Amino acid sequence: MSTYTYSAGPGMLPKEVMQEVQQHLLTFEHEGISIIETSHRSESFQQIVDSLEERLRRVMKIPENYAVLWLQGGATLQFSMIPMNLRKRKRFAYVDTGIWSKKAIKDARLFGQVDLLYPRIDETGEMSFDLSLVQEVDYLHVTLNNTIEGTRFTDIPETNVPLIADASSNILAEQIDVERFGIIYAGAQKNIGPAGLTVVIIRRDLIQSAELPSYLHYASHVDTLFNTPSTFSMYVAERVLKWIEDCGGVEAMERLNRKKSETLYTFLEQSNLFSSLVSGKRRSLTNVPFTTSDSESDRRFEQFARERGLHELGGHRSVGGLRASLYNAMPIEGVDRLVEVMKAFEEETY
Ligand code: PMP
Repeated sequence: MSTYTYSAGPGMLPKEVMQEVQQHLLTFEHEGISIIETSHRSESFQQIVDSLEERLRRVMKIPENYAVLWLQGGATLQFSMIPMNLRKRKRFAYVDTGIWSKKAIKDARLFGQVDLLYPRIDETGEMSFDLSLVQEVDYLHVTLNNTIEGTRFTDIPETNVPLIADASSNILAEQIDVERFGIIYAGAQKNIGPAGLTVVIIRRDLIQSAELPSYLHYASHVDTLFNTPSTFSMYVAERVLKWIEDCGGVEAMERLNRKKSETLYTFLEQSNLFSSLVSGKRRSLTNVPFTTSDSESDRRFEQFARERGLHELGGHRSVGGLRASLYNAMPIEGVDRLVEVMKAFEEETY
């Protein structure tokens, strides 16, 4: 029986990559020396960093006027590093689209005034904004994919202030036009690699001087490893990016993710028991929340699925219900199997 995890993060990683990592764990480069024991200042580790960055630049088409930083602290540390580093007017605009946006807003308030924007959403899921407020701010922050609510940004607003994007749950899963953004940031643990690594893609002109503790200052990390990074996570991330390139890049990932999520949404639409919590264009490609409309029966389904090797189908602890995260490493077979198990549960229930 194949097992799958639909965890929202840390999520599934490609099996081929994990097998390769397992094989090389004890003898990376030199006989008897593991990657975990390798200095971040060694030549062999530098080759990994260079390859990691080159691959990311290739698959995301990141231009040279952007720096790529490999940090720790998760996407959560970026909630404060961004306002800390970018405050000039000490006024920021945030689009509030969900729980993760709210957490980013809470931290930004420690560093200045936050103007909130709420998207107007029509019946097709098209978003529009009143951007009249956005002239006086240091930046506009958006959460591209709402991991908990299962919604995504459909129409990125046109603005003349830097756009900052939390791409934690859709980076590498769908194409992102990097040049539209001042900063794109993401925790690694969904589509990039193991937890403990955060990527920040930042337009170089936004890296300013600031009186900040050294780690928290973006300038410290540009074109150098400032301190000991999450070496093992970087090593695995480099292999994941190779896997993505071998599979055809982010375009191919997006095609597959559309197919996977459509398979699940189509089933949810015709099911007598399960229903999707989101409709229209705003549906996420990577996080699909759904429910039986009864919390007791949601929990029973979670257990039913677990007994059949399908793990982590519970919704986020703040909202309950059910959720399937379908990141890049989830094969189409994992979605077909989920639908099969949902059908079996439905038959047993009716
Ligand atoms: N933003 C989004 C959209 C997320 O999904 C998450 C994690 N699930 C975070 C931020 C926080 O990330 P981290 O745990 O890496 O701090």
